[in-house]
Amino acid sequence: MTGGSTKVQVAVIGAGPAGLMAAEALAAAGAQAHVFDGMPSAGRKFLLAGRGGLNLTHSEPLERFLTRLRPQAPRLERAVRDFSADALRAWAASLGTETFVGTSGRVFPVDMKAAPLLRAWLHRLRGAGVQFHMRHRWQGWDDQGRLVFGTPAGPVPVAARAVVLALGGASWARLGSDGAWVPTLREAGAEVRPLEPSNCGFDVAGGWTGLFREKYAGHPFKSVAITCGGRRQKGEFVATATGVEGSLVYAFSADLRDAITRTGEARFLLDLLPDRSEADVLREVAHPRGSRSLSSHLKGRLGLEGLKMAVLYERLSREDMHDPSRLATAIKALPIVLSAPRPIEEAISSAGGVAWDALDDALMLRHRPGVFCAGEMLDWEAPTGGYLLTASMATGRAAGQGAAAWLATQAHARREGS
Ligand SMILES: Cc1cc2nc3c(=O)[nH]c(=O)nc-3n(C[C@H](O)[C@H](O)[C@H](O)COP(=O)(O)OP(=O)(O)OC[C@H]3O[C@@H](n4cnc5c(N)ncnc54)[C@H](O)[C@@H]3O)c2cc1C
Repeated sequence: MTGGSTKVQVAVIGAGPAGLMAAEALAAAGAQAHVFDGMPSAGRKFLLAGRGGLNLTHSEPLERFLTRLRPQAPRLERAVRDFSADALRAWAASLGTETFVGTSGRVFPVDMKAAPLLRAWLHRLRGAGVQFHMRHRWQGWDDQGRLVFGTPAGPVPVAARAVVLALGGASWARLGSDGAWVPTLREAGAEVRPLEPSNCGFDVAGGWTGLFREKYAGHPFKSVAITCGGRRQKGEFVATATGVEGSLVYAFSADLRDAITRTGEARFLLDLLPDRSEADVLREVAHPRGSRSLSSHLKGRLGLEGLKMAVLYERLSREDMHDPSRLATAIKALPIVLSAPRPIEEAISSAGGVAWDALDDALMLRHRPGVFCAGEMLDWEAPTGGYLLTASMATGRAAGQGAAAWLATQAHARREGS
């Protein structure tokens, strides 16, 4: 489809999990869906997620699942109830991908891969009549209300009766989602909250010393705990050249990011030995060490070495290191001060997006009847754990169903009018 003007019944823009799910719902309702994407192939971020094993969803009870979508859970609830973790697992199975529940409750495909699932999905969609138009980058509407796509053959206008926008956020822009739609939708009268990094790394205030950076960037803090905002969680994260990143940091990233926005910095307390009490740690630290160096003393008595030792030397004064009480306190609650989130390009996902007040219950833009929005481009965020894919697909499905219902009412109105 290049050159000239084309008419389609429904244009789904964005071939990520949200857009593909919208196309599936439209096809199931008998609508003719055309999927457009700026990239040469579909589902690039979905495939990237596959490199980490593709955490599709989470097996915890739905009520608990919904709390992970706070503060936007009430807005997402209906879509997620209609396409819950169980429904998602059944959907994957219907495409030949069996899933299993990992020890953390997270759900993965048995083969831990995204490519076979995506391949089967695209095959089934094509079989259901969905048509794909890749290398079609949506640029907005022209003065006749047609969608305009930039293509290798030049601009292509497309007239569509209904549209589902599923354009993603702005992380990993090279995979296709770059947030360039934000000004376009604002100009169309929709409120869009600024896109911000979510599930992201942070720079530590003042940076790490050169020595620490050279030796430990990329090394993991294993079996540690973070306390922040009254919440404590055990897990792992990684020291980077400029700060910290990884799943345990992501779990706090919304609070940390918001604190930095409010006050210019954020801090968390790092417990290097979460399975030992402070009294226990103090007893071991204060144990006479004879002629042993402090490092071998701490390694011998508490198993502290490598990165865990280095971060103590990095953050404590010489006096603190040699004061058993202060050292024990630091081992259990070392303050790590952060100055900035890493750029959104590096984040796992985005916060912000199309404001809920700009949408009706069917996810249709109030200012643009017939245009629906879905997936990560909506204003919500969630931690890692499969919540992102589940909510993206659930809202994609809801938007597709909404568009199908809207088409039906329009057809009815046309019949009444004729
Ligand atoms: C490294 C990494 C690992 C992840 N792992 C997981 C995981 O294991 N579990 C999980 O739940 N989530 C994971 N996520 C997050 C998850 O992949 C996203 O939340 C999800 O892909 C969002 O789906 P979406 O369809 O809304 O957007 P996207 O997947 O971003 O798709 C949007 C599509 O829109 C297209 N597009 C954008 N703008 C235009 C335009 N102007 N014109 C035409 N096309 C356009 C893009 O090319 C893209 O194909 C991971 C993310 C990353 C970066």
